[in-house]
Amino acid sequence: MATAYSDIQPDKFEPSETHPQHGVIIGGPAARAKRIEYGILLSTMVIGSLGALYWTLTHATGWVEWSAFLFGYVLINMGVGIGYHRYFTHRSFEAGPKMRLAIGIMAQMACQASVLKWAADHRRHHAFSDRVGDLHSPYIDGHGKKMSKWKGLGIAHFGWLFDNTTSDMKVYGKGLIDDPQVLWCHRHRWEIAIFSSIVLPALWALAFGGPEHIIGTILIGGFFRNFFFLNFVMGVNSVGHVFGSQRFKTKDGSRNNWFMAWMTFGDGWHNNHHQHPRSAYAGLMWWEVDVNGYIISLWEKIGLVWNVQRAPKYVRDADGTWVQEKKPVTSGLAESLEVESPESMSLDDGGILFAKGAKTKAPKTNTKVA
Ligand SMILES: [Zn+2]
Ligand SMILES: [Zn+2]
Repeated sequence: MATAYSDIQPDKFEPSETHPQHGVIIGGPAARAKRIEYGILLSTMVIGSLGALYWTLTHATGWVEWSAFLFGYVLINMGVGIGYHRYFTHRSFEAGPKMRLAIGIMAQMACQASVLKWAADHRRHHAFSDRVGDLHSPYIDGHGKKMSKWKGLGIAHFGWLFDNTTSDMKVYGKGLIDDPQVLWCHRHRWEIAIFSSIVLPALWALAFGGPEHIIGTILIGGFFRNFFFLNFVMGVNSVGHVFGSQRFKTKDGSRNNWFMAWMTFGDGWHNNHHQHPRSAYAGLMWWEVDVNGYIISLWEKIGLVWNVQRAPKYVRDADGTWVQEKKPVTSGLAESLEVESPESMSLDDGGILFAKGAKTKAPKTNTKVA
C-alpha cells in the first residue's frame, strides 16, 4: 500500500493549551462533531434496545429475530476485533484492497464510528495507556487526577465518548488517512450503520419469516445486537483494565479476562494484547480462546491475508514465571521487526505508530515477565 509515512509524526512536540499531550486536541469543532456523532449512535442503540425489550415482552419473538441477533453478533464481532482493532489499528496482518474494504464495512456494521476514528482513538489509548492522554482510562481523568473506582469504570465505559478531546489524525491516522478503502468507509459510515441496523435485519425477517417479523427483527437483531456488543467492546476498556489477571507487567492496568475474551472473540486477553499489540493473536496459550485469531489463521491459509504478526511463545520456567521460549520464532513478529522498512513499527511507542525507517529489535529471549 502506497503510503507517505514521512513527516506525519512531528519530531518535536511543544505542549499548548489546545494540544497539552502529543496528538490530543482539546475542544474545537472536531470535539463537538464527535459528541454529536456518538450521541446519535448511542441514543439510537439505547432507544432501539428499550424497544426490543418492549417488543419481547409484548409480542411473540422466535428464531427469526434471535437468529438475526446471533448472525449479526458474529459478523460485527469479527468486524470489530479483526477489522477496527487488529488490522486497521495495529496492522497485525496485510490484506489487499477488496479485503480491506470488506473488513472495513464489517467493522462499521457495529456502528461504532468510522474505521478512521476508531483506529486513531485506539492507537492513542496504546500510546498513553492509563496515563494522561489516554481517552478511556478507568484510573485517571483527562487532567491526571485519580478517579474513584466506579466513576473510573463509568468514564472508561461510555463517559469518554462525550469528553472534550479528539485524536490528532496527523499523529494517529498514519496509514489510514490516505487509504482509499478507509476513506470510503469513513464517508459512508452512516449508510453502513443504517444498512446494518435496519436494512439487513428487515431483509433477514422477510427471507426467513415474513413482514410481521420486520419490526421485531430490526429492534432485536439490529439495535439491541449493536448495543449488547458495544458493552463488551467498551468493557475491554473499563472492566478489561480493572478485573482479571496480569501475565505481563505492562505499564498499565490491562488484564486478561476470560469472560470478556469469550464475548469479544479474543480481545479480552487484553494484558497479552498490551504486551504484544501487533500480534494478530490476543490469546497466547492454547486455552486462551481467540476466535478472531482462528479466523485470521484460516484467512491466512486460504491466501486472503498475509504477513500475519505473531507474538513470541511463552513457557513457564522452574519457579513458575512466564518466560519467552528460548527457541527463536522463525517467522512473524520477532523476525519482521528486524527488517528495516517504512512500515515497521516501534515497540517503544506501544507498537502502534509507524516510524519511517524504524529499526526495532525483537525482544530478547528468556526475558522475565510476571
Ligand atoms: Zn487497553
Ligand atoms: Zn489494541
